[in-house]
Amino acid sequence: MITKIEHIGIAVKDPKKSNEIFEKLLGHASFKSELIESQGVKTYFYQVGESKIELLESTSDKSPINKYLQKRGEGMHHLALHVEDIHLELERLTNLGFETIGEVSKGADNKLICFLHPKSTSGVLIELCQELNQL
Ligand code: ZN
Repeated sequence: MITKIEHIGIAVKDPKKSNEIFEKLLGHASFKSELIESQGVKTYFYQVGESKIELLESTSDKSPINKYLQKRGEGMHHLALHVEDIHLELERLTNLGFETIGEVSKGADNKLICFLHPKSTSGVLIELCQELNQL
């Protein structure tokens, strides 16, 4: 089941500048910054009520964020939906004809994530994310 908008991902070119902008906009600093080496991405999370804003910085030429910035420039990159069971939800959605990108993997902020292709979701890259159980 999809239970809420977990976060909105925004691709940024200059994280220092963008962090200043979002600190001013929201009135507080990001609560977490995380390097996801496998994806060539550094993230900065801001809490906004029960949802979050995730700034995405490219740290590698091969990163999908780098490709996005080259092609489209800065801006909204993806919409992340919180799910209780990512495997069940993927099965439901692929049965309905949604296309996925890649496999379920470990993402930022202690989550299991998977992406739905924008061509099957009205042009929006959608990330499904499930909270990993705290041990
Ligand atoms: Zn995300």
